[in-house]
Amino acid sequence: METKIKCGICDEKLFKVIYKSKISDYKDSNYLISDSDYGKHPQIVRCMNCSLIYVNPREKRSNLEKHYLNLNDPDYQAESENRALSFKKILKKLENYKADKGTILDIGCSTGIFLHEAEKLGWKTYGTDLSEWSINFAKNVYHLKNVFQGTLEKQKFKSNFFDCIVILDVIEHVTDPGKLLKEANRLLKKDGILCLVTPDIGSPTAKIMKESWWHIRPPHLFYFTSHSIKKLLEKNNFSILKKNRYTWYFSIDYLWKRVKKIKNPVFNFLNLLLEKTFINMVKKWVVPVNLFDSMEVYASKKNE
Ligand SMILES: [Zn+2]
Repeated sequence: METKIKCGICDEKLFKVIYKSKISDYKDSNYLISDSDYGKHPQIVRCMNCSLIYVNPREKRSNLEKHYLNLNDPDYQAESENRALSFKKILKKLENYKADKGTILDIGCSTGIFLHEAEKLGWKTYGTDLSEWSINFAKNVYHLKNVFQGTLEKQKFKSNFFDCIVILDVIEHVTDPGKLLKEANRLLKKDGILCLVTPDIGSPTAKIMKESWWHIRPPHLFYFTSHSIKKLLEKNNFSILKKNRYTWYFSIDYLWKRVKKIKNPVFNFLNLLLEKTFINMVKKWVVPVNLFDSMEVYASKKNE
């Protein structure tokens, strides 16, 4: 374990514990995007200086990277059509800024669902991910050429190369989010656009759900609010252009499998009853889910 983690924005060492640890061992499966082992999380603290919320102590970076290297997540891929619906909306918004499209980089691209959609629209696509399985999937199934396994810094992309960079549900997983944004800034062209999606711990849903909020999970090392993400972006030379709430699309089947994991006898009885009657009829239906607890931020590179 790595102890004495500094704040990811202001480097302050002093913190206050907000949620005590509820996990003793870390399994690779806790790092799956589709993991639903809710309620387990490491200790979560708040910076005494700038209020950033983050995990402290946490696993060593080498261990964390190993979890992702070994990751394979067919459950994530099974929902690819629904995930693509959310991604198409992002691509449409990016076209408002970049009508001519151009080069786009997806940092933490997973199996390449986003890049596959971008390519269909005429973008020149690039992606990186730590998971070998995901990168192989992106190459073999979506036939994406410029997708690379490993950390962003390992790729040695040229400065001022990309018209757009997307970091979708990834920044909360990295050990140094500031460093990631700094590198994204270097890679973007002068008028380049960044799109960032991350859970919002300042949202009413997060405040009501507290520790059982579905985004509180072992792989999430940082929990941003609209205030703290703005601060981090500005510190790394970005200006926010637009912010909205991210909408997910899931099949009833996928959501149902997650709801079923909640352990409560009365609840479980009702589940069984519902499953025998209603769920089988509607499990292929797709529903938009927006609990207003995920931020979708568009930012431009500040011109010095
Ligand atoms: Zn701080």
